[in-house]
Amino acid sequence: MSEILKMVKARDPGENEFHQAVQNVIQSVQPVLERNPEYRRKAVLERITEPERVISFRVPWMDDQAQIRVNRGFSIEMNSALGLYKGGLRFHPSVTQSILKFLAFDQVFKNALTTMPMGGGAGGSDFDPHGKSDAEVMGFCQNFMAELYRHIGPNKDIPAGDIGVGAREIGYLFGMYRRLRNEFTGVMTGKGLGWGGSLIRLEAAGYGCVYFAAEMLAGRNDGLEAKTCLVSGSGKVAQFITEKLIELGAKVLTLSDSSGYIYDEEGIDSDKLKFVKQLKNIRRGRIREYADKYTGAVYTEVDNTLDYNPLWNHPANCAFPAATENEIREKDAYNLINNRVGVVCEGANMPCTAEAVEIIQGRGNILYAPGKAANAGGAAAAGLEMVQNSMRLTWTREEVDNRLKIIMKNIHKTCLDAADQYGTPGNYVNGANITGFVKVVEAMLDQGVV
Ligand code: NDP
Repeated sequence: MSEILKMVKARDPGENEFHQAVQNVIQSVQPVLERNPEYRRKAVLERITEPERVISFRVPWMDDQAQIRVNRGFSIEMNSALGLYKGGLRFHPSVTQSILKFLAFDQVFKNALTTMPMGGGAGGSDFDPHGKSDAEVMGFCQNFMAELYRHIGPNKDIPAGDIGVGAREIGYLFGMYRRLRNEFTGVMTGKGLGWGGSLIRLEAAGYGCVYFAAEMLAGRNDGLEAKTCLVSGSGKVAQFITEKLIELGAKVLTLSDSSGYIYDEEGIDSDKLKFVKQLKNIRRGRIREYADKYTGAVYTEVDNTLDYNPLWNHPANCAFPAATENEIREKDAYNLINNRVGVVCEGANMPCTAEAVEIIQGRGNILYAPGKAANAGGAAAAGLEMVQNSMRLTWTREEVDNRLKIIMKNIHKTCLDAADQYGTPGNYVNGANITGFVKVVEAMLDQGVV
């Protein structure tokens, strides 16, 4: 284990997700450090693994029974060498400082890959929006913002959505910020189209992920048409991965939520996807209802006694994990390989455990794209929303989508070039980590010891 990783583990014991994210980058950038002894002398790893600031705060709120509840809120300001802090807000009961530090850390490199002037951050709370009334969610969001507003701003930190933070939550959060500051600024991205949002922003992480997969396949003179695909999750990213896959002629077989998954042998078509969007975004129901409506589909409940997820054990050409971190474990990776999956393209952040990554990469013939690169379309479109807000104008859907396609193409090429340059051709993990790392480190060195 590298000295730096030892130091990080000793300094932040128990932050397993953060350690995992750091290890992933440190492994990739070893050859960069060897070629640049100055990086070691100037302690870039020590600096880049330490957040610039970690803010933790109490969020008291009142439920519909007038009971006082208390959650914990966070804002992780990881690195601002390239620009203001930019990252998602996550509301999920599993949220800890470790999870948000891993998200913020990966976001630093992801944002660098987009080539936009954005640093990296993340925030959120262990609040669980599931089963809460709109009034409760609004009450929570307002109390969360009552503290967060001190730490964010259009030149400081512009948060976006992540798990559990969608259009409804962004609206409540933005509304409270506007009230507290008495100003209307582009302080959040993912806003409603009528009040500063950008077309394609909602779709961008999912669409971009599919564009990335298409680029990888194009390198082998192949495409997504008629490919069978496993998709996990049924939230913002999964829905738009599915939408773009359908558009490109692929067949999506699965979707999931935290209770279970559906397998639809006939494929999820546009009408069925419309049902899923209504189910998850409006009715806030469970994916099991898909199998009630479409009787050809099979629903399988989560079984926590298993050390694998049966969703990943269906024969298919491509896998798009788009639910959450560490959802593809060792056994899942072997199942994917045994079922001859040719593409694993991450819509979620860090959905593969370190062991799973090693197994998948061990099979040199699988095209494997880390979320840092493959889902960077979300960050890129957030950047495009910021640009439109600053210029006080709105681009058309086609304009934003075209920019997104170009950005994903460029990220793909940059990753391949860096992987080649450092002697690991085709290794998108190394390519993404090295490109992001060098860009951020060079900016840090230019700016002195701060
Ligand atoms: P959503 O909240 O919209 O959807 C998340 C989906 O994943 C839901 O179906 C949810 O199920 C499921 N899920 C969440 N946690 C778990 C869990 N612990 N186990 C099993 N299933 C789970 O989130 P997003 O689609 O926005 O985010 C999904 C992933 O994509 C995350 O890793 C996020 O960091 C990443 N991402 C998001 C971007 C964005 O712009 N939103 C951009 C780039 C990456 P349920 O309905 O039961 O909660």
